[in-house]
Amino acid sequence: MDSPLRIYSVEEAQRTVLRRRPLDEVELPSAVAERLACIFGAGVGPAEAVARILASVREQGDAAVRDWTRRIDGVELDSLVVPSEAMEAAYAALDPDLRSALEAAARRIEAFHRRQPIHSWLDAQPSGTLGQLVRPIARVGLYVPGGSACYPSSLLMSAIPARVAGVESVAVATPPGRDGGLPAAGILAAARIAGVDRVYRMGGAQAIAALAYGTETVDPVDKICGPGNLFVTLAKRAVMGTVGIDGLPGPTETVVVADESADPRLVAADLLAQAEHDLLATGLLLTPSRALAERAAAEVAQQVAALPRGEVAAEALRLRGGAVVTRSLAEAVELANAYAPEHLCLSVADPWAWLGRVRNAGGVFLGEASCETLGDYVAGPSHVMPTSGTARFASPLSVADFVKITSVIGLNANEARTLAPLAARLARFEGLDAHAAAAEGRGTAHAPSSVASGPLPDGHRAQTKDQVPRVAIRRDVEAMPPYEPVEPPEVWAERLGVAPERLVKLDANENPYGPSPRARRALAELSNGHIYPDPTQRALRAALAAWLGVDAERLLVGLGSDELIDLTLRLLLEPGDVVIDCPPTFGMYRFSTAVCGGQVRTVPRRPDFALDVEAIERAAQDGRVKAIFVTSPNNPDGSPTSWATIERLLRLPLLVVVDEAYIEFSGLPSLMSWGEAPDNLVVLRTFSKWAGLAGLRVGYGLFPAGLIGQLWKIKLPYNVSVAGAAAALASLDDMEYLQANVARLITQRERLQLELARFPFLHPYPSRANFVLCRVSGLSARQVRDALRRRGVLVRYFEQPGLTDCIRISSGTPEQVDALLAALRRIAEEDYGQAV
Ligand code: PMP
Repeated sequence: MDSPLRIYSVEEAQRTVLRRRPLDEVELPSAVAERLACIFGAGVGPAEAVARILASVREQGDAAVRDWTRRIDGVELDSLVVPSEAMEAAYAALDPDLRSALEAAARRIEAFHRRQPIHSWLDAQPSGTLGQLVRPIARVGLYVPGGSACYPSSLLMSAIPARVAGVESVAVATPPGRDGGLPAAGILAAARIAGVDRVYRMGGAQAIAALAYGTETVDPVDKICGPGNLFVTLAKRAVMGTVGIDGLPGPTETVVVADESADPRLVAADLLAQAEHDLLATGLLLTPSRALAERAAAEVAQQVAALPRGEVAAEALRLRGGAVVTRSLAEAVELANAYAPEHLCLSVADPWAWLGRVRNAGGVFLGEASCETLGDYVAGPSHVMPTSGTARFASPLSVADFVKITSVIGLNANEARTLAPLAARLARFEGLDAHAAAAEGRGTAHAPSSVASGPLPDGHRAQTKDQVPRVAIRRDVEAMPPYEPVEPPEVWAERLGVAPERLVKLDANENPYGPSPRARRALAELSNGHIYPDPTQRALRAALAAWLGVDAERLLVGLGSDELIDLTLRLLLEPGDVVIDCPPTFGMYRFSTAVCGGQVRTVPRRPDFALDVEAIERAAQDGRVKAIFVTSPNNPDGSPTSWATIERLLRLPLLVVVDEAYIEFSGLPSLMSWGEAPDNLVVLRTFSKWAGLAGLRVGYGLFPAGLIGQLWKIKLPYNVSVAGAAAALASLDDMEYLQANVARLITQRERLQLELARFPFLHPYPSRANFVLCRVSGLSARQVRDALRRRGVLVRYFEQPGLTDCIRISSGTPEQVDALLAALRRIAEEDYGQAV
């Protein structure tokens, strides 16, 4: 039987099927060429046709899109926008098996892409801060082909990465269907599953033009992604620059590299699966086994006969496919690298052994089990992959396509002085004197010991430029931004003109019930205020040891856990030593590291606030890394870190400091109860939150035996005051009372979670602490904070990368939560225009 799969030698193949041709040289199938001539007149090539379409849509908007849709697709459109009810209806009416397959695929695609985000990072050094902000692209248009075939899978494969990246508005353009103008139901249902905001029924170059330039009904987008036919691709190339584009996907292609172990039936099936797409698709087999090539060719001949799209597949294989017999498997892999295929299938006995040799491929499929069709639909990675040899420099569609990076340059004055002469020298060499002058302005404007002009909170303006200190102070301290603590209620009461007791203070995770009755009594009856406190904290450590069931010798009490953070770092850090910080988290670690002359290495948490353990492990590779701080539950989101993760971190050669300031609200056991804890674990806790003693400053830590003696050496002798110690001791004696308040705060936290979620502009995160972090959308977080403040309700807003659209609300008494919710309701009505 004559097989559509011809067998080539390497030399023959290199002259023919392995030779790439530029996009413009690709011959048009005759049916397409005829249609083109019919619509545009003879002699008009695809590029010219596309240029005409783009120009007319740019000038005439919707009318031109409708006109081209009538002429090219033969459909008369009323509205370009598919009503959202149509998406709902398509979803509801979809065959349940198909729906659950699409949903299962969507879940896997989402899970894969959730592992991809590129993070913002800021590296704060004494010399200043450098870093990058990663921000989603605001508006994205996705092209989903729908002319000759209907591919809901393509929609999922591009819309889900966009959603994961955080794109605000995801629009889809897909050709109208012939019946009533609606696109295929499968596409509409997939749009609903992927959370697409809007579907436009328009295809071809006119759709690309409308997305790029905008029309009366189509909002212009910032980037266009997704595959399409030749006209779509040429249009994308033409609008590149006006908008971003993901690449120029051409016809699909698969190279199967196989050895004699491969099953010829499966090889043939994979080639045909590729070839059935369209006449321009490519299916190539590269194998050192002539016997396999012959058997695969025979299989193709047999299988193609049974395929509904067999004619297309056979013709595609005849035109662009083939089996190439190589001299070795290594040569087959090298030819594949040179061809840089979209899909590379390694159907060989030991595919993993060959993976290291793969240099150019959109996706590599290892072994016969990982067939390319699984990748097309359900494996997880986007099936939108680079074609036409662009895998030499391009990548599959990913979250990276939907974000962009802003570099952050925040040098301090000293560093600017050091760098200015270098910049000026380079600028003069390039003949750019104004550049040189601008740099030199930084080199002289500041006297050597002037104070860095970072933002100073009110009351902290100890030094201004006019108050240059007479003696030089540490340069790194000069350059450091100050810690920004929350202001006391009296200050806010005065600013807002309300009585302090009317303020609803939910900004600092304090315990609104305050100290326990016994602690209050102990303070009232304090008789030893004139005597220095016990420098070894005997009574308090003994009581803590008994309560916790730990060795008193390993306990140390501090002025809040803040002091113990500082003390630990003072013990560890020599100038230039590194501490790993995992923001968003409590700011004190970063602050104390800088005060102690250390450097912070930032390993941001993942979007769900979990630690990025692999990245931490990579960051911990160098010998200067001394410690990592892990807050569990974390401030500001309230997510706990599992013991398994802590155990993994403890295997690193550094001190792991677990800050359990909120553990009492989590229902989880404290790491202090870990009997045989490793000798690089420090656990910190505090009386500030659960015992309501924030104002008295009592925290404590359980330290490894090897550190505690050294800490005693450097601790200020009388750090904890007699008042703090007395209140803490009395609190340990009033557990029932305090635990009841903890339970009340947990109840209000749960209530907050539920109630806040009802506001359309608030999206609370789950929390195991005494606060709830909310992402704000529709309004700015700062706006919400200010609007609440005007109504006497204080919440926390963070000016930090990744948190600028968040507010954190501490749990309070039921009355405080009532007041907060009432204020939010008013904001919803007045500022958001929606009653809740
Ligand atoms: N750790 C974390 C995670 C915190 O949020 C806070 C206070 N906001 C502290 C420690 C400081 O607690 P203390 O009052 O014991 O200094």
